[in-house]
Amino acid sequence: MPITFSIVAPIFNELDNLPELYRRVRDVMSATRGTWELVLVDDGSTDGSTERILQLAKQDKHIRPVIFARNFGHQVAITAGWDYARGEAVVIIDADLQDPPEAIPDLIAKWREGYEVVYAVRAEREGETWFKKTTAALFYRIVHRITDVKIPVDTGDFRLMDRKVVDVLKTMRERHRFPRGMSAWVGFRQIGVPYKRAARHAGVTKYPFKNMLKLALNAITGFSYFPLQLATYFGFIAAGLAIIAIPVVISMRLAGQGAFLGQATTLIAVLFLGGVQLISLGVLGEYLGRIYDEVKGRPLYIVREGPEK
Ligand code: UDP
Ligand code: MG
Repeated sequence: MPITFSIVAPIFNELDNLPELYRRVRDVMSATRGTWELVLVDDGSTDGSTERILQLAKQDKHIRPVIFARNFGHQVAITAGWDYARGEAVVIIDADLQDPPEAIPDLIAKWREGYEVVYAVRAEREGETWFKKTTAALFYRIVHRITDVKIPVDTGDFRLMDRKVVDVLKTMRERHRFPRGMSAWVGFRQIGVPYKRAARHAGVTKYPFKNMLKLALNAITGFSYFPLQLATYFGFIAAGLAIIAIPVVISMRLAGQGAFLGQATTLIAVLFLGGVQLISLGVLGEYLGRIYDEVKGRPLYIVREGPEK
């Protein structure tokens, strides 16, 4: 029987959330019209989540387990979800129940109206630190400003996508991934639905600051050349300043003033330009490393155990 809805949840050490996630998704989905499956992508868990997923899958045929050979990261786990989902509509949801499964019917309602991407917008966030909320808000706004695709602000990966959209996304095999940017990039009819982001049901965040920074870099480099262009802008500004400064300094010296004697000014100029050049090199390196990763062409993830695609 064809499957109408695929619910995809990436799992990284979520043992205490799994039973609750399964129960709530099951309750919500059995009340909707249509058949469904729950794709649980185990992203190299080490806390027994893997065994738990396989056990749940034995009990309930709705569950489609995909077990990674190691931790590949949240974004890659979502990608595997796209690859393994068979539904006419695919919903990505966090396993920690911060995205309430009870909001899925709202997404489905919009899909039934004909929208192909229905993203959930965080109207409120509960139980997150001041630091996380501020950096997240800043992140969404910076990304919105400098990237070429208009990625909606305050939107996470919690969203429903039509089969047509998922089939396009499946062809985009870039290594450094920003799924919500990719799903904005493809176009189609998109709409946001507000929801209240809950606190984590159990456990701690798997996104330390380091990972947030990585995601931000993926978002920026994946969708914009702006950092590369910055070097050009800086170059023009520095060259412009020099062109103005040269005649000024020469005439001051000819006028017999004692201005700009000594090495301090030279030193500062050299240090400043050296700094700008090194930063620009770093930016170049960032893009170069990403190109190198693409050229190697390794698989995005390795599945240890899973169904046929
Ligand atoms: N996750 C994952 N792989 C990772 C890190 C996280 O699959 O390397 C999953 C995690 O299990 C959860 C989702 O991604 O289902 C979101 O992670 P988390 O709740 O830790 O992020 P936060 O909500 O704090 O931003
Ligand atoms: Mg979370």
